[in-house]
Amino acid sequence: MSPPAGETPHVALLPSAGMGHLTPFLRLAAALEARGCDVTLITPHPAVSAAEARHVADFLASASPRVRPLEFHLLPFDPASANSTDPFFLQFEAIRRSAHLLGPLLASACRAPSAVVTDITIFSAFVPVIRAAGVPNYVLFTASAAMFALCAAFPSAAASLDGHAGTLDVPGLGALPVSWIPQPLRKPRNLFSAQFMENGRALTQVDGIIINTWEVLEGDTLAALNAGSVVPHLPLVTPVGPLPPVKLHKNSCLPWLDAQPERSVVYVSFGSRTALSAEQMRELGAGLEKSGCRFLWVVKSKKVDKEDEGVALEELLGDGYLRRVEGRGLVVKDWVDQDAILAHPAVGGFVSHCGWNSVTEAAIRGVRVLAWPRHGDQRLNAWVVERGGLGAWPRGWSWEGEAEVVGGEEIGQWVRELMEGPGVGMLQEDAVRAAGAGGKSNKGLGELIRKWNTAS
Ligand code: UDP
Ligand code: UDP
Repeated sequence: MSPPAGETPHVALLPSAGMGHLTPFLRLAAALEARGCDVTLITPHPAVSAAEARHVADFLASASPRVRPLEFHLLPFDPASANSTDPFFLQFEAIRRSAHLLGPLLASACRAPSAVVTDITIFSAFVPVIRAAGVPNYVLFTASAAMFALCAAFPSAAASLDGHAGTLDVPGLGALPVSWIPQPLRKPRNLFSAQFMENGRALTQVDGIIINTWEVLEGDTLAALNAGSVVPHLPLVTPVGPLPPVKLHKNSCLPWLDAQPERSVVYVSFGSRTALSAEQMRELGAGLEKSGCRFLWVVKSKKVDKEDEGVALEELLGDGYLRRVEGRGLVVKDWVDQDAILAHPAVGGFVSHCGWNSVTEAAIRGVRVLAWPRHGDQRLNAWVVERGGLGAWPRGWSWEGEAEVVGGEEIGQWVRELMEGPGVGMLQEDAVRAAGAGGKSNKGLGELIRKWNTAS
């Protein structure tokens, strides 16, 4: 099926679950719409959480009202039939098991798509369906090119994986310490590993890969991917990042930031769903206190994204903490508008888990990062941050599953160094230039749109 000739391309986007995956899809939707594409956002129902469903609804209502939603109703799915308890991995599986329903859904769309873009976590299940529909098939990779190289090379490299020890040879990246790779990949037979392997193996079957990164930051990895040195016969990998954030939320922290001196505040956040242990949270609190710096700390005590009700801050941080830091530190448990915080002139540093969206936002806003990865792709992303000069990464700091607790004294020292360290203005310029008019990422997106238009 193909749309009538002469029209702008119609791009259908299919995200999976988790703010880290949803966010770049919404940014891509907005970027395509801004360039005149007809965009359909396929939204899996039920969503993984009410918060994500609301986030999509806010986006459609306020940020990009011309993007058309198309509901993808998932088949009932018994979590007991999958080898995981992680709500996000289970949602990936629910979407994958409903893949055959996409064909009729696409056929019902008001206009046949010129291309379908699916999320990395689910795409392999959709390859036969999209092929049968005769539509060009693209994958959006939502993290770093370094992580993509691992994803592509893993099926062949995994044979040499020996539990938790040693290194893993990833062509294009070199010998990676095994401790840097996502925790579930080191355990035999789990749902995430099975999906990861299947996706890695299917990459040569799509028409192109889109990554939310940019040449200046990850040029060597991108070159290796496109030279076929990571794995042979990969389709073209196009960097289109850093995709600009889309305005969605009001921010209650801004009045407090307005009252702080320029570049004096360290912003501390571990993303939408990463909880620290109670003990580690207290040490981090002590570290921020000892650093002597002003800080804005977003605390999350639950794993599932935006909703974090229940536990009181005093209970998490210890009696008297909030009183002691009053005026100098603001601790919040709400969802904040992170991009607005990073853009605020009072913010001078970012203690971050290095979720890839956070890294791209720090670069766009020119805020130096102190990397404290917690799980998944985040150690690889932290490595990119360190190599690219966007910040520092204390390599020994533990992540989920490692018992060691990082002490407050050490954290305080690193935070002081972060705030006294060099600026990252050049990197910010590179990032903004890449995505702006005439920039390489911007041109890359333009070439894809032209290709899709011709294919129509
Ligand atoms: N985010 C936000 N407010 C919060 C927590 C997160 O706006 O309180 C945004 C953040 O700016 C980023 C996304 O949610 O765009 C989180 O994605 P990331 O890849 O950084 O990490 P993840 O949450 O997937 O671990
Ligand atoms: N990932 C991948 N292939 C898969 C599933 C995940 O390459 O089949 C990547 C994903 O893009 C992310 C990392 O593996 O970079 C960890 O996945 P998770 O869904 O936990 O993402 P997070 O919320 O940490 O972004």
